[in-house]
This record gives sequence, C-alpha cells and structure tokens, in this order.
Amino acid sequence: MIVFRGIRARACAVIVLIFLMSGCSGGRAATADFFAMDTIMNITAYGKDAEAAVRDAERLINHFDALWSVGKPESEISRINNGDTPALNTATDDILRQAELLREMTDGAFDERVFTLVDAWGFYSGDYRVPGGDEIAALLTSKDKIDLGGIAKGYASDKAAELLRSEGVKSAIINLGGNVYALGSRPGGAAWRVAVRDPFDGAKYIGSLELRDLAAVTSGGYERYFEENGVRYHHIMDPRTGYPADSGLASVTVVSENGTLADGLSTGLFVLGKERAVELWRENKGLFELVLVENDGTVTITDGLKNSFSSDAPASVAGAGVIGVFKDGELLHAVDLDAVSEPYDFVAGDDNIVRIAPGEAFMLSAGCRDQICVRHAGLRSGGSYGLAGPVVCLPNKVVIKYIDELPS
Ligand code: AMP
Ligand code: MG
Repeated sequence: MIVFRGIRARACAVIVLIFLMSGCSGGRAATADFFAMDTIMNITAYGKDAEAAVRDAERLINHFDALWSVGKPESEISRINNGDTPALNTATDDILRQAELLREMTDGAFDERVFTLVDAWGFYSGDYRVPGGDEIAALLTSKDKIDLGGIAKGYASDKAAELLRSEGVKSAIINLGGNVYALGSRPGGAAWRVAVRDPFDGAKYIGSLELRDLAAVTSGGYERYFEENGVRYHHIMDPRTGYPADSGLASVTVVSENGTLADGLSTGLFVLGKERAVELWRENKGLFELVLVENDGTVTITDGLKNSFSSDAPASVAGAGVIGVFKDGELLHAVDLDAVSEPYDFVAGDDNIVRIAPGEAFMLSAGCRDQICVRHAGLRSGGSYGLAGPVVCLPNKVVIKYIDELPS
C-alpha cells in the first residue's frame, strides 16, 4: 500500500472522468447521456461500430433499471419485496447470486437485503428520519426485502462493456454515476484516466487512476445523506447495527476487472473499515485494488495501484511491505512487514540486531551505536522514519531497505 497524508477534511468522493482527449485521434465517437438507476449515466465509445453499440448499451441499462428499481412497482425486485414470486429474468437471477457471494465475502457488511432498513431511514421517499432504537432492533430481524442499489450499477457496467465488445467496440468509457468501466484504451492508445474525487471537497480530486479494461467504483457517505441535530446520517447502512456505517472511512474506491465485484465491495468495505478492507485485499491478491480515504484525510492505496495512481499529495511508500536486510551488500533476510504477526530479532553479523515487528523494522543495536541510524531510523510499513531513505548502518555495512518482492 501507499499512504498519502494531508488531504483536508470536507465533503465528497466520486470517481469522475477526466477526458484528456487532446491529441487523441481514433475515429468516430458516439456518446449517450441518460438518466437511469437514480443517476446520470454517460457512455462514450469510439470506432465505426460505436453508434449502434452505445444505443444498445443504453437500452440494456434501462432494461436492468426496469427489472430492479425499488421505485417501480412492476419491477421484479418490487414484486419480490411485495411478496410475489415472479418468474425471474436470467439477469435478475445472476445479480442476486452475485450479491449473495459478495455478502459472504464481506461477512455480511454488503447485504442486498437492506431494503427495510434504508426505507426506515427515509432514503427512498426523501422523508428522512432517525428511527428509534427499538425500531432498529426489530428491523434487524426482518431482512427479507431487497435493494440492489449497492451493486446494480457495477453489474450494468460489466454487461454494457460486454455488449460493446461483442459489437466490435475496442475503446469506450462507461460512467454510470461514478461507477466507471474503462474499456480498452483511449483512441490514441494511452490508458483511460479517471479522477478520484476528494470526499471532503466536491471540487477537488485526490488523484487519478490509469485504467485499461478495468472498473473503478467509489462509495462514500457524502453521496446521499441528511443532517439532524448537527449529526450527518448517510445512505450506506451497517447491516449489523442498523445505523449508517461508521468505520472511519470517508470513501472507498475499488479497482477490478469485475465491475460487479468492485461495486459490491466498495459498499461492503466502506462498512468494514480500513483494517478489514486491507486484510480482504491481502487474502484475495490480484482480485482488486483499493484507494481508501479516512476521515482524517489519510489516503491509502494498495500496492497494485502504485504505477497507475498519481497524486500531487505528499506520498510515502507504505505497505508493499517487503524489506531486505543486507550485510556487506549481501541479502541475508527478506520479509513482508505486513505479514509479521510477532516481533523478532534478526542478527545481521555479530552485533547487529534488526528488530522486525508487525509493520516495522529498525536497528535494535549495532556496533555503530552512536549513529543516527541506530537510534532514530526505521522502516514502517512501507515508509521510513528518522531518515528519508533506507536505514544504513555504515560502519557495519548493514542496510535495511525496501525490495520489490520476496525472493523465491
Ligand atoms: P453504493 O453507492 O454502491 O455504495 O451503494 C449504496 C446503496 O446501496 C444505498 O443507497 C442503498 O440503496 C444500498 N445499501 C445501503 N447499505 C448497504 C449495504 N450495507 N449493503 C448493500 N447495499 C446497501
Ligand atoms: Mg457499491
């Protein structure tokens, strides 16, 4: 991971597109702007097949909206919620199955059965209210109504991308209210650039992502909320408590080849908080990457984004976590600091002791006791402290520094 500090606290993190199209050639562009799933959508595609493909994608998304909208009494989801057992469209079957998988993956933090809860807080009607404790306790026992709002846009972006590809499109950007899918590259061949908005200031960005054939989805409490007696209540519920999630995160951006997963996880990880989000990332290496913004403004990105996320904010490498201990130029020991659970000491030559602890490594003692490296410097989960670079204990020729990966 990489941690950025110093983003000031204020209000809003959506992914927005920066169309850096200058210098792009690449043929005909077709675009559709429309309103579906309660949000503004834009699809822009390039190439000779783009026009028809974009119209078809718009039609497909409107079809999903008609199937799943909780605001439309005839939708399949509304009918299920009203006690009917309609024959389900295969897409409805499919998304419900994927929602269940995401529920399992997030230990129930993502839960598509939140309809009654979201309804009680007034987020469908706009008649916002804070339910009483007894009411919430009762609601927690009745999870039988469905709201696909936490996953539908991501699913729709996957299916729209699939459709565009099947109709010959090789370059497109699909933006479904902040759920972005970048298909192929920009017409000139460069990666698509997608900005991640500052959750505390709708006019600012915390950085931008370079994406090719990847989805990027952001969830944040700033997207929909109301205030009562000075307290802000937002639309992402913690299904375990019945209250809006309060995990210390201001926004979660998930990058993945799978837009459905990215959407469900952005919601679920926002509920779970940073620690568990990073754990899940580690347990599922390669499946998704994260940009996490905490309420204090700290920005953390996972290792897989280090070459595709750029930001003007001060950055320190944090959490790739693999360090090497070198003596006389020879690698003696390598360890992933993020995988260390108990502190231990590594002896690098007779009197050089390197203390390795969860997320941290430093010289515990060495012959060069008076040197700054011994007393003040170390590496902490990717960054360094005391010194700007690697820890060097010169007289004893011991170096502790980050290395790309564990040697095989
Ligand atoms: P998103 O913007 O993707 O994070 O989805 C938020 C929407 O998903 C909310 O407006 C609700 O409709 C629904 N929702 C709220 N809390 C949850 C939850 N814990 N799990 C799944 N869906 C949720
Ligand atoms: Mg979501």
